[in-house]
Amino acid sequence: MLKKKKLPENEESKQETVEEVLEVEEKISPEIVEAPIIEAEIKEIPQEVPVGVIKIKEFDKDSWKPITDLGKKVKSGEIKNIDEILDKGLKILEPEIVDILLPDLQSDLLAIGQSKGKFGGGKRSIWRQTQKKTKEGNKPKFATLAVVGNKNGYVGIGYGKSKETVPAREKAIKQAKLNIIKIRRGCGSWECNCGQPHSIPFKTIGKTASIQIKLLPAPKGTGITTEKEIKKMIELAGIKDIYSKSRGQTRTKINFIFACFKALKQLTNTKVKHDLVKKLGIIEGKLE
Ligand SMILES: [Zn+2]
Repeated sequence: MLKKKKLPENEESKQETVEEVLEVEEKISPEIVEAPIIEAEIKEIPQEVPVGVIKIKEFDKDSWKPITDLGKKVKSGEIKNIDEILDKGLKILEPEIVDILLPDLQSDLLAIGQSKGKFGGGKRSIWRQTQKKTKEGNKPKFATLAVVGNKNGYVGIGYGKSKETVPAREKAIKQAKLNIIKIRRGCGSWECNCGQPHSIPFKTIGKTASIQIKLLPAPKGTGITTEKEIKKMIELAGIKDIYSKSRGQTRTKINFIFACFKALKQLTNTKVKHDLVKKLGIIEGKLE
């Protein structure tokens, strides 16, 4: 740490802020710097970050220098489709790979925390705050959960934590891209039986800790009948109609969301008999 003891308290904190901003700018890639968010505003009132689906800024392919073999193949155009990576179960280590192969990706933040403050607090917040007590005082940390998806068969979630809200958000989005999965859609609803991929082809279950969530096919027009944060994920995956049932401590938002993500993953991992593919209108990934 730098010696800054001579400075009056105000000056010191100002300097720290500047240092932190610089650090952030060095670490994050160009498209993130361009994000339309004013940093100073966020520091003061974290809850004011625009929630809702945001289009991820266009990615500058030319300036990207891939490190992994997979990244090099994607940049050179040898790999043109994300399925070539996902079907082989290869691990994506660079978020830029996903930026190139899924250019229509959108992101959203999920409310996993509770705000403190007046009137008892408890309002849902996208930030989960933790405090570390040190000699200098309490040092807050922010954590958030991001979901990315193209509303057409691909979705990912990621967790990010940092001293500042902006890097926490960027970490979470980056992680979400690395966790991208392909969704198997279809119509497994006996009430509907339309053979179109507006729902899921069969029921699926996901578990984390004590939580279990079951997702069930629903007929056209049902909508997404799940808890609000789960709904964001299902929507970004491109599923339009679904029922859900859950049990356990669903107030523990993070586990609940991860359980749902597992359930979605399970859809693609389940083996399906060939003759059912047509009957249930199953498609994997993008609907052209
Ligand atoms: Zn249907």
